[in-house]
Amino acid sequence: MSDLSNTPAFGLSDTELMPEQGDFPGNGRLAVRDPSTGALVAQVAMSDATGARAAVDAAQAAFPDWSTTLPQVRAEILHRWHALIMEAKEDLSRIMVAEQGKPISEARGEIDYAASFVQFYAEEALRPNIEGVTSHLHDAEMELWREPVGVAALITPWNFPCAMITRKAAAALAAGCTVVIHPSAETPLSALALAELARRAGFPEGVVNTVIGDAATIVGEWTADTRVRALSFTGSTEVGRLLYRQSADTVKRLVLELGGHAPFIVFKDADLDRAVAEAIKAKFATSGQDCLGANRFYIERPVYQEFCERFTRAVEALTMGRGMDDPDIGPLIHERAVEKQVLQVNDALKNGAKLLTGGAIDHDRGPLFFQPTVLADVPDAAAIMSEENFGPVAPLTPFDDEGEVIGRANATEYGLVAYVHSLDPRRIYRLTRALQFGMVAVNRTKVTGAPIPFGGTKQSGIGREGARQGLEAFTDIKYVCRDWG
Ligand code: NAD
Repeated sequence: MSDLSNTPAFGLSDTELMPEQGDFPGNGRLAVRDPSTGALVAQVAMSDATGARAAVDAAQAAFPDWSTTLPQVRAEILHRWHALIMEAKEDLSRIMVAEQGKPISEARGEIDYAASFVQFYAEEALRPNIEGVTSHLHDAEMELWREPVGVAALITPWNFPCAMITRKAAAALAAGCTVVIHPSAETPLSALALAELARRAGFPEGVVNTVIGDAATIVGEWTADTRVRALSFTGSTEVGRLLYRQSADTVKRLVLELGGHAPFIVFKDADLDRAVAEAIKAKFATSGQDCLGANRFYIERPVYQEFCERFTRAVEALTMGRGMDDPDIGPLIHERAVEKQVLQVNDALKNGAKLLTGGAIDHDRGPLFFQPTVLADVPDAAAIMSEENFGPVAPLTPFDDEGEVIGRANATEYGLVAYVHSLDPRRIYRLTRALQFGMVAVNRTKVTGAPIPFGGTKQSGIGREGARQGLEAFTDIKYVCRDWG
């Protein structure tokens, strides 16, 4: 594991991070590869169905004590976890670069973001969890108690291998749930590192359980298990639908944070310099592999030509390379992701789009590097205008009026985020009302953070993560009515 050998602050030995045996039974080893080079980074012990059940046994056994541990004590342990994550920031960032490929500055940013959820929910753990109700009965007092649901299963993707774990786990743990975590097969090391830091922070045995293995086997065990009361999933809409169906028989509390297909709309009255700069961020952060990534760009016709030129120049200035060299763009995660770029670009060109820059694999750098690409005059019929791109391809198209662009922006089964650029307050108000998305970002791109409820409408998901709302799926309401007669 060459890329990970120098992680002094963390002080983790290979055998601690990747013991011969995982914490839960199973067999086989998972190869983790650096997407920049294809080099083997590590081999991780895999659990199987027996291991998945053993993790739930452990979480179920730990639940009675953890759920009745004083909130102050839960908060203290969460604060220690936060401090340890921040102390190990550099090492966690390097681990992430080695297995995920993202530029090191982005990895450092993700650790700050990941840690912020732990800090936020350490503080939320202390907020009152009993609410009074104005009584409609004589001689009766009413209260709503928020109680932890039990064992929560957390299933996370590879694009934000640390933040997606802490966003779920910190909320569940603060609420008093115990957790079983299944990270993506591409990024198990970040998950194991966070689990080791959780152990050092002092979470009691069985409270946090991380299980590496075949996703369908592990998660299939958990969806069928009546002891797992909540399931929180971040990933594709396709897998989200499957887990929704699988969870029906045991009626689990569900949070589904699924795919997106964000429109990026620029009106002629926008600050064009700013719109171009924000469009670059909205498209190319995480090398385009972001559920919040701008997927289609609608530009009002009078500024279309100028936007195309300025945006293309900015894209041509982007650097691409290995994560540790800190370029603007790194490799894509695997071959399937690259194939999707090739298919979507070819399909758009066949439908009449024009290639302004990029459009091909950068073979000199490696098979997973796809050039940042701009396509102009892309018709709505092109696949990229309705399918998630999840890569560095930006399709641009002109529009003529507000009603038209609202209709085109909303013509999707996704509803995660929409971006609008305009300096006209009345127009901004109308757009904000009309766009059918869980989040609307006006004249800026970065909108997420621990205090905001993150989530989508339509097939982008169910429920919210972050903020007070992030606790809801991990708690049940108990209504108490006391009659003093
Ligand atoms: P994915 O759906 O393929 O996998 C996500 C997780 O599901 C992984 O842990 C994987 O192991 C597990 N999984 C895969 N197949 C499974 C199965 N049959 N049964 C049970 N579990 C299974 O998604 P991905 O490729 O890892 O991530 C990219 C997707 O995630 C994109 O669609 C993106 O939009 C979405 N995403 C959404 C958000 C959000 O907050 N809304 C954030 C990040 C990513």
